[in-house]
Amino acid sequence: MKQSNRRTMLVTGANRGIGFEVSRQLGRAGARIILTGRVPQAVRRAVAALRQEGIDVRGELMDVSSPRSIHACARRLERSREAVDVLINNAGIYPEGTILSMPAEALYDALSVNFFGPFHAARAFLPGMIQRNYGRIVNVSSGYGSFAEGLEGPPAYSLSKAALNALTLRLASEVQGDVKVNAACPGWVRTRMGGPEATRGVEEGAVTIVWLATLPKTGPNGGFFRDRKRIEW
Ligand code: NDP
Repeated sequence: MKQSNRRTMLVTGANRGIGFEVSRQLGRAGARIILTGRVPQAVRRAVAALRQEGIDVRGELMDVSSPRSIHACARRLERSREAVDVLINNAGIYPEGTILSMPAEALYDALSVNFFGPFHAARAFLPGMIQRNYGRIVNVSSGYGSFAEGLEGPPAYSLSKAALNALTLRLASEVQGDVKVNAACPGWVRTRMGGPEATRGVEEGAVTIVWLATLPKTGPNGGFFRDRKRIEW
């Protein structure tokens, strides 16, 4: 087994949807998975399902809308000497409505989960990556967060993902050594968020995220990718 496959990889919002599938694919490739979510029972169920497949996985509670919850999880891992090599900021919410019709809270909520979650998680785990001279952060974004693609979709969501894209670029400019920060758009995927009409299954939706999580040293830093190809911010 390649050394890179034995990395410890933490996935947020991994109890279902794309995050669960990413955990499965990375686990099958040999990574140690820290599967996180905000509901204990949902985390336990997801961990049990992956263990049944022989995947090396442990569950941790992490509500990404709470900086306290993120840092508490980081401290638990530190105490158990579990170094996070790869962070996948996957957890996301999709509040609907137009700027004029939505309650202002919809934007606060979207920013809290889709932007401040990755912001605090990066601050919790990136310093250790830089210190150990290895790390990958994958921010699961969306074409709806791309200026180049017209910032489409519900505004609370698209504004939060545009902010996540900006965070990706700025974080990438602060890393050193073999540490990389990139963003991925999974495409339109059949999950609770994407709905049953979506054109892709979770296997396909996970591909670019898994690729960015396992980039070699020569791989890109500070990019936005769909189907493993660079797209415009
Ligand atoms: P789902 O709605 O299926 O899953 C979302 C996951 O995020 C769930 O595990 C959910 O947990 C978790 N989550 C939500 N809020 C929090 C929180 N506060 N703390 C921790 N976890 C939380 O969505 P997808 O799997 O489709 O989406 C995954 C990512 O992909 C998101 O970032 C999304 O924006 C992005 N994406 C998805 C697309 C699609 O078509 N599906 C398209 C483009 C991007 P719980 O079960 O507790 O609610």
